[in-house]
This record gives sequence, C-alpha cells and structure tokens, in this order.
Amino acid sequence: MTTPTASASANIRTRVRIPLRFSDGFSTVADAVTFHGLADQAEHVAMVFGDPGPTPLVRMHSECLTGDVFGSARCDCGPQLREAVERMSVAGGVLLYLRQEGRGIGLYNKLDAYALQDHGLDTYEANSALGLPEDGRDYTAAAQMLRALNIDTIDLLSNNPDKGHQLSNLGITVRGHVPTGVFTTPTNLSYLRAKVEHTGHTIALAG
Ligand SMILES: [Zn+2]
Repeated sequence: MTTPTASASANIRTRVRIPLRFSDGFSTVADAVTFHGLADQAEHVAMVFGDPGPTPLVRMHSECLTGDVFGSARCDCGPQLREAVERMSVAGGVLLYLRQEGRGIGLYNKLDAYALQDHGLDTYEANSALGLPEDGRDYTAAAQMLRALNIDTIDLLSNNPDKGHQLSNLGITVRGHVPTGVFTTPTNLSYLRAKVEHTGHTIALAG
C-alpha cells in the first residue's frame, strides 16, 4: 500500500444536461460535466444522475468503443454501462466515463490483442505478448473529477477490487462496494474467466 497521494486539483469547465435514450427504449437524463486540469489531459467526462447525495454511487467506466457503441459481444462493457446508467437514474449517482480504451492501451492495440486472442492467448497474455501492460489504467483523473464535484466518499459500483484500492490510495474513501451484474455470452466467457482468474474480479461464473 502506498500512502495517499495529493493530486493537483481539477475544476469544472462545463455542466450540460443531456437526455439519454438507449436502443432498448430506456431513457433518462444526466448532466455531462467536463473539467479543467485533469492530470492526463484526456477528455474524461462525468455523467451525473439525479441527486447523488453525500456518498454517491460511483462507476468508473473505461471507454470501450467496440462494446459501448457497437455492442461487441467479445466483452461485457456495453451491458455494464447500460446497467450502471439505469441504477444511477433510480438512485442518483456519478458515472465517470474514462477515455482509457482497452484498459489503457488504446483502440488499435486492443484490436491487435483481439487478433492474438483468436490464436489462443487470454486478454492479459495478449497484452504482454505485444509488450503492453496488462492493465495500464490510472485513476488519478477520476479522483480529481470526484473532488471537483465535492465528492470524497463513495459507494463503488464494480467487481474489480483494484479500482477501489487505487481510489483509496488517491484519497477517496470507498465506503462500500456494490457488485455489478454478470453479462455472459458465448463469445465473452473466456474473457470474463480471465478477469476472475487473473485479477480477482468478483464475478460468479458457471462452470
Ligand atoms: Zn469492452
């Protein structure tokens, strides 16, 4: 465990309301919030639902173009995003949409890794074979975004224990962990199994 890191502060740039309508007909509304001063200069966005309250439900969702936009069944990102939006539209919450595609390696590298996975490597082995980190994500900007929104204590919606550890190390108090649903398909089962076996994701998989 490292000691809490005091990162530079970010502040809110724009807050704008966006009505959301999903392809399955679900609709809600969120405030999209952008920031000045994020550590990695990326265009991360916070989607704020309802009244988040003093200890909001927070989801850190890393961008997945193939899953979020095109409905790829190689991963579970699309259904996880959809679930988070619905939960937060009911209970209030903050979804941090983080522009770190492919666990931080970028879209092209992610697709290169997919090609290797088609030859038998798992999602982590493929990254290693390309000379890339298994998980290159950094949550410094996420912690900055929460603080800019005056949030320092959260309930974290995630099955990934590393996200909570990283946020704690960045000075955010993670009061509770709320597990997400499990969205298996024939084509993402090996991907989800690798997440469980490799990084201790708390996902109950059959078999
Ligand atoms: Zn994905």
